[in-house]
Amino acid sequence: MHIPLSSPDITDHEIAAVNQVLQSSSLALGPKMDEFEAAFTALLGRKHAVAVNSGTSGLHLLIRALGIGEGDEVITTPFSFIASANCILYERARPVFVDIDSDTLNIDPGLIEAAVNPRTKALLPVHAFGHPAEMEQIRTIAHRHGLAVIEDACEAIGARLQGRPAGTFGDGAVFAFYPNKQITTGEGGMIVMDDDGIAALCRSMRNQGRSEEGGWLDHRRLGYNYRLDEMSAALGVVQMARLQEILAKRARVAEMYNLLLADIDGVKVPQISDSVEMSWFVYVIRLDRRIDRGAVLEYLQKRGVQCKPYFTPIHLQPFYRELFEHAEGDFPVTEAVGRSVVALPFFNNLKKEQIEYVVENLDKAVKKCRCG
Ligand SMILES: *Cc1c(COP(=O)(O)O)cnc(C)c1O
Repeated sequence: MHIPLSSPDITDHEIAAVNQVLQSSSLALGPKMDEFEAAFTALLGRKHAVAVNSGTSGLHLLIRALGIGEGDEVITTPFSFIASANCILYERARPVFVDIDSDTLNIDPGLIEAAVNPRTKALLPVHAFGHPAEMEQIRTIAHRHGLAVIEDACEAIGARLQGRPAGTFGDGAVFAFYPNKQITTGEGGMIVMDDDGIAALCRSMRNQGRSEEGGWLDHRRLGYNYRLDEMSAALGVVQMARLQEILAKRARVAEMYNLLLADIDGVKVPQISDSVEMSWFVYVIRLDRRIDRGAVLEYLQKRGVQCKPYFTPIHLQPFYRELFEHAEGDFPVTEAVGRSVVALPFFNNLKKEQIEYVVENLDKAVKKCRCG
């Protein structure tokens, strides 16, 4: 048996929609991008949505549009995909890390205020693995110190906190659609916000700094080519129409894992806060300290179960260590979590037999790889 870590869920509807674009004369900057953006303003009730060619591009534009630059600091989490910190570096600002909560795996709101100083310009929480961060506390701190809030919602489309959707708490939020995310466009991202000026800046900068009213060769500011093409947007429109179906399928897979893993000693299943409705991005377990994770990963991989240590802390990545003189011990919770996590195969159409096979082998691996 071979079970991949992730697998996109593309139906005939997506294929037909992309084909239709290919048969049209409009492959970029066309009606599908507008339609895809409208699906986000409708889902979230925010005023603006700006489609871009990746989640990373979206984060970069939002940082720029908020005027964050050299000498500024942005407080964020070290337990994330590296793009959530790199986007700060792109503008020569400094990512200031704050350790995480060991259950939610999100930035620990109780530690944020100690990291605020006169250079701090924004808070950039990440909704890790589709579990919303503690946005009420984060917003309170931001208001108290006059900081912007940027939500990295790249892993959290459709998640809710106290009934309110992820992506509606910050001055802006960013979603991503790489093929392992809940919905995909191949490559793609979406920035959402309410402020007209920030939206206009993002639209201009994704399109080479052009202004909406100016001519094609009229460039008002430094811009980029961060546009989302029409094939990707068409794929996204169909995936958005299927969002609730997709989220339900993923919740079903997570439930099966939770049930089957409950009795395995030394394995901790994902911890979900009461006020949270998850949008399942990945299924990440944690192994007890006495279990040799490397050996477990190897055991599973040998039996065709693809699995990964998800995530390695950002501050321990080689160039972050060098740039900011980070070292082991800086963020102990993040590091302990980072050493213990294993992402198991997780996708919409993962079958019951496959889940059972993964769990059976994990059970054997854990028993075999107990080192103390
Ligand atoms: C996927 C992801 C991104 C970036 O998305 P890309 O589309 O791959 O650029 C950013 N932040 C987090 C937390 C992510 O998981």
